[in-house]
Amino acid sequence: LRMKKHNFYAGPSILPEFTKKMTAEAALNFAETGLSVMEVSHRSKEFVAVMEEAQNLVRELLHVPEGYSVLFLQGGASLQFLMVPYNLMNKKSAYLNTGSWSSKAIKEAKFFGDVVEVASSKDANFNYLPKDYTVPEDADYFHITTNNTIYGTEILKEPDVNVPLAGDMSSDIFSRPIDVAKYDVIYAGAQKNLGPSGATLVIVKDEALQRVDRPIPTMLNYKTHIDKGSMFNTPATLPVFACLQTLQWLKEKGGVEGMEKINIEKAGLLYDELDRNKLFVPTVPNPEDRSRMNVTFVMAPDYTELEKDFLDFATQKGMVGIKGHRSVGGFRASLYNAMPYESVKALVEVMQDFEKNK
Ligand code: PMP
Repeated sequence: LRMKKHNFYAGPSILPEFTKKMTAEAALNFAETGLSVMEVSHRSKEFVAVMEEAQNLVRELLHVPEGYSVLFLQGGASLQFLMVPYNLMNKKSAYLNTGSWSSKAIKEAKFFGDVVEVASSKDANFNYLPKDYTVPEDADYFHITTNNTIYGTEILKEPDVNVPLAGDMSSDIFSRPIDVAKYDVIYAGAQKNLGPSGATLVIVKDEALQRVDRPIPTMLNYKTHIDKGSMFNTPATLPVFACLQTLQWLKEKGGVEGMEKINIEKAGLLYDELDRNKLFVPTVPNPEDRSRMNVTFVMAPDYTELEKDFLDFATQKGMVGIKGHRSVGGFRASLYNAMPYESVKALVEVMQDFEKNK
């Protein structure tokens, strides 16, 4: 018998059983076609229905207002680092630098004009969210990375600013309600809360696309994909199918509102243990800044030599993917939507067992 594994990987990461089962079935017989979802034309009525339903469920679950387009593209969130400024930044944009992903987004935006970095938490290895900053009123948008997958901070409430927001929500989309109307664009690689890598979700305000007059190459132009319903070129058919399954699962679970309740409980359980257990400390000191999706922690100063022991101990007990990112060290437990409460409890018990023996 194989031991139960608790999957704490940061991405690609845990998916609902429902998504895996339905995708496995469709890999053999998709929509009673007798063909694999990998073998049918993206223009077949069966696949077109998948794409449309996925887009509609995104609208429904995130309460996307009129005037926005929902796209499933490729190239990952990393391609959006440049598609966003290419399509939405006329001369100036503003960015909040809260980690490596924000830094990468800033680097790409600089190809297109004047980028104001309004604040950065680099001075403390990104372990907090900067709060006092001013966004220039003439910026076309203010870019935030809502969840910092690596450093474990999360912007849970849209900042109150005078310009539209652009949000990289790769690692916390669908984990809580958001106010889409505050954004000109939202993007997310699928491989955390949605599906396998290969699909990238983009929600863009149509009106915001009239701002720039630079020529935009066809594939990099949101308009191309909007006009063709994400079918300008061959979409990532199997990943989009899997995303649809997760969206259906999410709806069944009470949508993002239901998910937020569970996510608060899961993160609360682990942070409470980190605040209690003498062996560990969370890397983000301010509870308000802590991510519900990626909980980062290290050994307490007196116990640093136990890091490898704990990793081995936890691995023996079935914990997978808890080694921290190399730029933070220590540990990272990713608690995405599909992560059951029981797995978080199992990790907490492992931490308590380990503490007892020290
Ligand atoms: N932004 C964030 C917040 C991420 O966590 C990641 C990937 N982990 C990326 C961007 C890059 O995404 P991709 O690998 O899909 O390009």
